[in-house]
Amino acid sequence: MAQNSVRNPGRHFLQIPGPTPLPDRVLRAMDTPIIDHRGPEFSKLAKRALEGIKTIFKTTNPVIIYTATGTGAWEGALVNTLSPGDRVLMVETGQFATLWKKMAERLGLKPEFIATDWRQGIDPKAVEARLREDKNKEIKAVCVLHNETSTGALTPIADIRKAIDAAGHPALFMVDTISSLASADYRHDEWGVDVSIGGAQKGLMLPPGMSFNAISDKALAANKTSAMPKSFFAWDDMLTMNKVGFFPYTPGTQMLHGLVVGIEMLHEEGLDNVFARHNRLAEATRRAVKAWGLENLNKNASQLSPTITAILLPEGHDADKFRALALDTFNIAYGASFGPYTGKYFRIGHLGDINDGTLIGALGITEMALALAGIPHKKGGVQAAIDYIVSAHADEKRAAAE
Ligand SMILES: *Cc1c(COP(=O)(O)O)cnc(C)c1O
Repeated sequence: MAQNSVRNPGRHFLQIPGPTPLPDRVLRAMDTPIIDHRGPEFSKLAKRALEGIKTIFKTTNPVIIYTATGTGAWEGALVNTLSPGDRVLMVETGQFATLWKKMAERLGLKPEFIATDWRQGIDPKAVEARLREDKNKEIKAVCVLHNETSTGALTPIADIRKAIDAAGHPALFMVDTISSLASADYRHDEWGVDVSIGGAQKGLMLPPGMSFNAISDKALAANKTSAMPKSFFAWDDMLTMNKVGFFPYTPGTQMLHGLVVGIEMLHEEGLDNVFARHNRLAEATRRAVKAWGLENLNKNASQLSPTITAILLPEGHDADKFRALALDTFNIAYGASFGPYTGKYFRIGHLGDINDGTLIGALGITEMALALAGIPHKKGGVQAAIDYIVSAHADEKRAAAE
């Protein structure tokens, strides 16, 4: 057994779509003495974090920073803008969409799902059609995921905005960008999103325990009339205190140290380069899957996730057993499977602080694990990924020289 009893040499391959491996620089930034969260040094730190996170959401409005995981920021978005009994339109892209819908139900909202087969992202036309039907404008919010982490589907958010506008519908537009923020292009202001929900432990390369609400003027106006009960997640006290660099209660001080450095690192690389890297790693993974002769869970070629790839195993092969064998033998963690496809697929996360070499290592392990598990596949997946990465870099260098 590789766990517990025997030492595992080398680095663990944390290949799940969040939490992601942390850069040592972020870890070091967090390894500092605790400071007074009402003192002048803290205020400077908080202001840097609050300003910095705006550049990641691409917004000039305030961004709320919660000491909570992404689930808390989901709640923050709903309770700050809506009232009990409000109708909310959601799309069943997969497990995370389903969890957000359950939360809306528990909070006393009336969510409704546009169903999908969990093998694609969101069709903007379906959203537009449903909103057109809503003649009395009973739907108060459209809540979608930018990236459905459970299946690997990326939704074109600008197109959903267009769909809402085309239907002439006044609903608020809320987007969960937890597993795409700082990995895929995201534009809170330009795309007309009212509340964007982010989390720390995915593309932002931080530990779990921090999440965000980026908010539009329209969302701030909705906050004034929202009748949902709210306390810990209430925006108003936060916004007032944040203006002077403080929080209404003790925030995760060490997380803020990490956040400032994580944002600094993203800008040092350049956001566009960060996005290009994720696209390259995702495409390399997809080439490997294809060469293995395996199937991507997401069938929609125009909505493939840049941060996670879900791989279906052939009929009769248990994906959970495969993951356990790979963890035990090669010290790699893959993402689990959900919903109608539970036990039928595994997920490779390719986001956060990873590079071409990390990915090739992970794909190499995957090819070995497929062989060891006796799962029918063709050889050459890793080679296909290598060939793609080389060609992508060659193209980039050629373009730069022109
Ligand atoms: C991870 C994730 C969540 C949940 O966030 P937690 O930090 O686990 O609470 C919600 N939505 C998406 C899309 C996610 O990837």
